[in-house]
Amino acid sequence: MEKSISILIIYTGGTIGMVNDPVTGALVPIDFRHISGQVPELRRFGFNLESVTFDPVIDSSDVSPETWIRIADTISDNYDHFDGFVVLHGTDTMAYSASALSFMLSGLEKPVIFTGAQLPIGVLRTDGKENLITAIEIAAARENELPLVPEVCIYFENKLLRGNRTIKFSAEHFNAFSSPNLPPLAEAGLQIRYNRNLIRYPTVRRPLTVSAKFDTGVAVLRLFPGIGHSVVSAVLKTKELHGLILETYGTGNAPTLDWFLDEIRSFIAEGGIVLNVTQCPAGAVEMGLYETSAGLRAAGVISGKDITTEAAVTKMMILLGSSLPKVKVETLLSKPLSGEMS
Ligand code: ASP
Repeated sequence: MEKSISILIIYTGGTIGMVNDPVTGALVPIDFRHISGQVPELRRFGFNLESVTFDPVIDSSDVSPETWIRIADTISDNYDHFDGFVVLHGTDTMAYSASALSFMLSGLEKPVIFTGAQLPIGVLRTDGKENLITAIEIAAARENELPLVPEVCIYFENKLLRGNRTIKFSAEHFNAFSSPNLPPLAEAGLQIRYNRNLIRYPTVRRPLTVSAKFDTGVAVLRLFPGIGHSVVSAVLKTKELHGLILETYGTGNAPTLDWFLDEIRSFIAEGGIVLNVTQCPAGAVEMGLYETSAGLRAAGVISGKDITTEAAVTKMMILLGSSLPKVKVETLLSKPLSGEMS
């Protein structure tokens, strides 16, 4: 008899898992061990569904590298026993967590699908049921006995997006996430249509390993017209700051003022790393296209191309935490490690 597909649901917290307490009326987390009671449709899959719930569950604003390590360890400890993983997570920082996991899990050959909801699963108009049901279906999808999507992804409101390409762009709509620089890996309509040519499949088989060292000496500096010297200087002189994500204009442009470039130059000369990421949700940094980015390039700033800030922050933390020499970290920042840039 064919072995049934096993999926592990990891509930970290967030709106999706909330129901109204019948006595107090307050929103409280549901017990995912009884998820089929809340979402009876799940029984019809015939899959073996098991769950792990974080204790305590956390709003995703409290997510930190420790949370990512817990999620990664849960996946790694259960890797051989399950065909796929569904991570239920608050939407606010889901794009950071999915990005982090994509860099932490090397040799991943099974689906890790993040999802959540804008309205709790216990609310009549919830978007959580559809998100959960389809995320499970995608985590279980196989072709020629191999997983169809062996990647870290976010499934939300009909679209499967590569996790490290995704941003949360709406605080209001069910359609809350987008992947401006990469089309969806799948779209769910009457059928789930997979874009197989975009999905990354392993080329060499390696055992799963988890990178769990982070250096949080990272900052994001978003430029704006009129930004003051003292502000830039205060950020760059922060103790223990090793990496800066510079959110620039358009294709990677920044002020040409001497004091600005001097600050950047001395940060880099003292061992710091600066990654240029565009403030525009879509498109890429092209340093040297305009005079206003040529100075950054000459100062030793690295192009983040079309990486999201979420992926840039997590990639920087992991690479800085890896104890690799600075030149190696710079080389790895400038090329895709997990499909995060074109
Ligand atoms: N604040 C919540 C969180 O991110 C919102 C949500 O669950 O979507 O945890």
